[in-house]
Amino acid sequence: MSKAQETVLEIDLSALTHNFNYLKSKLQPKTKFLAVVKAFAYGSDSVAIAKHLQKLNVDYFAVAYSKEGVVLRDAGITTPILVLHPQPVNFSTIIERCLEPSMYNAKILNEFIEIAEQHSQTNYPVHIKFNTGLNRLGFWENDVDYIVNVLKKTDSIIAKSIFSHLAASEDMDEKDFTKQQIHTFHSISNEFADKIGYIPWLHLCNTSGVLNYPEAHLDMVRCGIGLYGFGNSAKEDRNLIPIASLKSVISQIHNIEKDETVGYNRAYKANGFEKTATIPIGHADGVNRIYGNKKGFVTINGKKAPIIGNVCMDMIMVNITGIDCNEGDEVIIFNPKYKASNLAESAGTISYEIITSISQRVKRSFIKY
Ligand SMILES: *Cc1c(COP(=O)(O)O)cnc(C)c1O
Repeated sequence: MSKAQETVLEIDLSALTHNFNYLKSKLQPKTKFLAVVKAFAYGSDSVAIAKHLQKLNVDYFAVAYSKEGVVLRDAGITTPILVLHPQPVNFSTIIERCLEPSMYNAKILNEFIEIAEQHSQTNYPVHIKFNTGLNRLGFWENDVDYIVNVLKKTDSIIAKSIFSHLAASEDMDEKDFTKQQIHTFHSISNEFADKIGYIPWLHLCNTSGVLNYPEAHLDMVRCGIGLYGFGNSAKEDRNLIPIASLKSVISQIHNIEKDETVGYNRAYKANGFEKTATIPIGHADGVNRIYGNKKGFVTINGKKAPIIGNVCMDMIMVNITGIDCNEGDEVIIFNPKYKASNLAESAGTISYEIITSISQRVKRSFIKY
């Protein structure tokens, strides 16, 4: 690891390999691995991550929106890509770029069939999404007859898989609810297979589903956060390595007197003689204002320095009183030791939010061993 000379998000591809192998080790050999690379691969870099995982022979990718899939195709990714949340306006692009849409309601299904027919497609792969309790996207259990009838009337598309999403796979207090979702998914998929006359692939588990519900791995699993190094529990966090380190430098150090204030709206007032450091990273880079006023902190030469006052667009100020440091010294916002999940928790949010917030302004650099 090199010392940062500016704000940089350093991505360790060997950590990605480790996490991929760890998650795969939880699966039966027949279970396929879909890597979720939506939202710039959880704030890292979707192209670099997808290229690396493609080399490791990942079976599938998923993105949220078709635009994200187009970026991967433009970069030469040839692995199948599931688009989790497509909109009809993009259906032609989806077909032209060989992306595979999730069908989550009747409107989407019928409009996609229309476009697939216009493009003279036969057996274009789609993935039928069922709602089993998250109540977000998906057909309901009692829609099976309807879907099967629609599919039987066309040869333009084929149900390559049917899937659902767990609402609380990381929360062991909700085990009964999750078991019920697994049960409902089985009854939907049995009915669907019976009525359509073939058995699509079945998939249900996200990262925490993989770790907590081995009986529900089925034909494929869909892992996001685990690949990026977070396991949604202290135990699993120890088995995974965060792939991203967000680092910066000290631009300037100030010595301030008691009652002097720091930053916009004078939100921080010094309690006595204090030393502050200004860091070139702000809310436009993904350090949300929620981390201001001592909710968040950075680490300088191994010591915790709280963020004081309000987070600015391009800067934060931190209290370095008692920390031996100089202008130009490295600042760690998070890394595998000082974890993004801890920083997130200190401000009442979650690892998913902090890592996906790192804006495209921040330079990405890669470590490959
Ligand atoms: C984002 C997403 C995932 C990945 O979830 P993780 O908790 O990050 O592993 C899986 N499936 C669906 C439908 C998703 O939207």
